[in-house]
Amino acid sequence: MAIRHWLDLSSHFSNSKIKAVFSLKSYPTNGIEGRKSFSYENGFNPDQIIIPEQTHSTHVVLKNNSGGVKNTDGIFSSNSKCVCSIQVADCMPIYFVHKKDSVFGLVHVGWRGLVSGIINQCSKLLVEQKYNLAHFQILIGPSIQSCCFEVSEDVIDQFDPKFYEEKGSGKYRVHLQKLAMTHCLESGFIENEITVLSDCTFCEQEKYHSYRRNGKKAGRMIGLLGTK
Ligand SMILES: [Zn+2]
Repeated sequence: MAIRHWLDLSSHFSNSKIKAVFSLKSYPTNGIEGRKSFSYENGFNPDQIIIPEQTHSTHVVLKNNSGGVKNTDGIFSSNSKCVCSIQVADCMPIYFVHKKDSVFGLVHVGWRGLVSGIINQCSKLLVEQKYNLAHFQILIGPSIQSCCFEVSEDVIDQFDPKFYEEKGSGKYRVHLQKLAMTHCLESGFIENEITVLSDCTFCEQEKYHSYRRNGKKAGRMIGLLGTK
């Protein structure tokens, strides 16, 4: 049986022109070269990748040409030639795809960006561009789940108690995906159009890199989103 080195997430979207992929731990993704080779393997033009710097900010931009973007955690594009990219290891890769048009976005969402409102910024950007949020489908990809995402008392007050449980010894388990889902609905996206994958990057150590599990030496998974 062939080993699969990435997930093809395209079938989660009804827009048949869209291709959405997510690399697994077995795929080497180091540096720009890793991202380019992963693009090439999936039929994307490696020269058309857009690469956000990723600083746990709430900044998201619409960009219709390739290249890097400073201090940004989410890229949207309405240029079907462009390929959005992000890297993650526990943080949520969130894919946004218009159901008919070639409009798509890929956003890196960790707990800091989430509580600071990055999902609402995505909604604002799309509304400014005159898009109807009801026409978008959203996929929250493999990320650290509430079985493993633990925080201490120093940051727990940044979360609504609806989204965590106390584990004792000053530790709390937070359900980031549920919170992200709630932010999507509060921002105007439609519940039926949102899919949350249940894979936990921390639990599934054969399949995924995890920053919380492996610390600074952890590798990264690459998400790509573009058209076929
Ligand atoms: Zn887990």
